[in-house]
Amino acid sequence: MATEEFPLPTEFSPETAQLLRPDIDEFRRQAHEVVEWMAEYLGRVGELRVQPDLAPGSIRLRLPVTPPEDPEPMAAILADFRTVIMPGMTHWNHPGFFGFFPANTSPPSILAEMLTATLGAQCMSWSTSPAATELEQVTMEWLAWMLKLPEGFTGVIQDTASAATLVALVTARDRFTKFEAPHRVEDLTVYTSPEANSSVAKDARLAGFPPERIRFVETDEGFAMRPDLLAEMMAEDREAGLVPAAVVATAGTTSSAAVDPLPEICRICATAGPLKPWVHVDAAFAGSAAILPEMRWILEGVDGADSLVFNPHKWLLVNFDCSAYFVRDVPALLRSFSASAHYLAAPHQGVVPDYRDWGIPLGRRFRALKLWFVLRRYGVKVLQAMLREHIRLGELLAAWVDESPAFERLATARFGLVCFRHHPSGEDDAAALDARNERLVNSLNASGKILLTPTRLGGKYSLRLSIGHLTTSEAEVRRAWDLIVETAGRI
Ligand SMILES: *Cc1c(COP(=O)(O)O)cnc(C)c1O
Repeated sequence: MATEEFPLPTEFSPETAQLLRPDIDEFRRQAHEVVEWMAEYLGRVGELRVQPDLAPGSIRLRLPVTPPEDPEPMAAILADFRTVIMPGMTHWNHPGFFGFFPANTSPPSILAEMLTATLGAQCMSWSTSPAATELEQVTMEWLAWMLKLPEGFTGVIQDTASAATLVALVTARDRFTKFEAPHRVEDLTVYTSPEANSSVAKDARLAGFPPERIRFVETDEGFAMRPDLLAEMMAEDREAGLVPAAVVATAGTTSSAAVDPLPEICRICATAGPLKPWVHVDAAFAGSAAILPEMRWILEGVDGADSLVFNPHKWLLVNFDCSAYFVRDVPALLRSFSASAHYLAAPHQGVVPDYRDWGIPLGRRFRALKLWFVLRRYGVKVLQAMLREHIRLGELLAAWVDESPAFERLATARFGLVCFRHHPSGEDDAAALDARNERLVNSLNASGKILLTPTRLGGKYSLRLSIGHLTTSEAEVRRAWDLIVETAGRI
């Protein structure tokens, strides 16, 4: 087409107008082409390297320094996507991806994301798309029902667990400084464990809690917060004139999936002062497991908590990003996060939620749509069966580790996460073992066949294999284990 081949004048020419008006037939053709690519990708992602083997900066070198002045044909852009961008992608959908925690996607979720992008709705208020708000209410009620959350929790979708935890800590801070007590933020303390996600301490800092007031309560041998130490630290802080304002407990820590003892933590908080510290539960990954009756124990005690977050974008097959935040005291949340302006006023205000007042950003994506597609397409039963299978595969791998004299498990296997290290008999030097296992992880990742992300547990360098992708099967886990054994033998 002429407009794509010749430089355009900068004024608003007829060619410019033509290019801006969507050519629906061309869009349809290109969309079909993209969908073909998507289907092919999902079908063969397991054949690719999980992670590219690239030097930093190498993708950037292949891209122009300035943007194009003139329109480029879609075909050229798609070709570069395939040849320049794709070689620089890590494939989180790869069945050999065992790093971090899974960030699953699934066909129904992808289809919903396409529709969300097509609608392009900005869902900050009820009136800016009533269906988005009301579907969010319904899907959050569905999730609360699936988790068997006690009455009194109301859900709202946030982009990430880290943002939801920031929301919880800001609400807690305001409760103690502005609304229910007049304390100075410098006198407030926040408690979490050293095994909490890195985002917790960052969120506490961002919420204005002084860094020296963030208390890390030591963990037991299973890496769960010690409630006796929490009680002691709170008592000492109160003695010193400080005010315990919040506790962030983790259900499923990032390093080892440890579960903090929520019932005891809530009991301690219930008597921790005239104003009870805000208890926030970070169940970002493992919260999904609570849809299984036999795993519901991980949320035991949640009736004493003020808020909870878990990520359907990790283990419930919903594309990143979709994080479910449940809060008990909605008025407290709104006190901290409401903002009005003439241009936001609408007649329905106060009758239905305006979710812009339930979190940090004003603008909001229509995230409930993909959650709805996934929950309907699979139903609770298929999701339960998948989670159960991943947990079984984790236990199976843990058994292989335990049966192997050259390997040692470093934490209880939970929720499909297994932490272990290579420990040949006779080698007991701590630094040498760390170095050996670091070499092992680097060598496994360099193979391109699997991806592991390591951690440290009790000071020991640990391999960490997280099973949770929808396509990961026993054969896949077996292959990964054989590769680990074989590679360890060579190092
Ligand atoms: C993944 C994870 C987070 C961070 O989740 P985001 O949604 O990426 O912010 C926080 N806490 C725990 C326990 C996690 O596993």
